[in-house]
Amino acid sequence: MKKMTCVIPYEEYESFDELSAQDRQLMEEAIAATETSYAPYSNFNVGAALRLRSGRIVRGSNQENAAYPSGLCAERTALFYAHSAWPQDPVEALAVVASVDGTVTPTFTYPCGACRQVLVETEQRAQAPLRILVGSAQKVLVFEGISSLLPFVFDNLPEKH
Ligand SMILES: [Zn+2]
Repeated sequence: MKKMTCVIPYEEYESFDELSAQDRQLMEEAIAATETSYAPYSNFNVGAALRLRSGRIVRGSNQENAAYPSGLCAERTALFYAHSAWPQDPVEALAVVASVDGTVTPTFTYPCGACRQVLVETEQRAQAPLRILVGSAQKVLVFEGISSLLPFVFDNLPEKH
């Protein structure tokens, strides 16, 4: 037996001002997306924004339901919408952030496990590392590739068709 270590590289930006113009725009789109959240049960408004290879920006927000599992996260709302509308336009980057009562949360909002699993296939289809921006009111974390958020991924199904 050997003890092993998994290192996860990521970047931490002190404020939105430190981001590139492209990344800053995507974070701002994610914040704007929180306004279309439907979250009467959690009052936790999550916004996601995708940048597709064409440059198109696609927004999504969390959509809750009284039958809780019927709701959907902001990330998957955006991802599924993007692929259903523009299946030939791969996703290059994702930004996610949350607000409560109209104020962006001081803590980071990371994609949940289910969204990470969907992001794996999103990245595989794009055949390029997905840039993932995790926002808060000030700092932003940037992960280059979904393997940073989901190491040891389940992807060993028999030949995909
Ligand atoms: Zn999720």
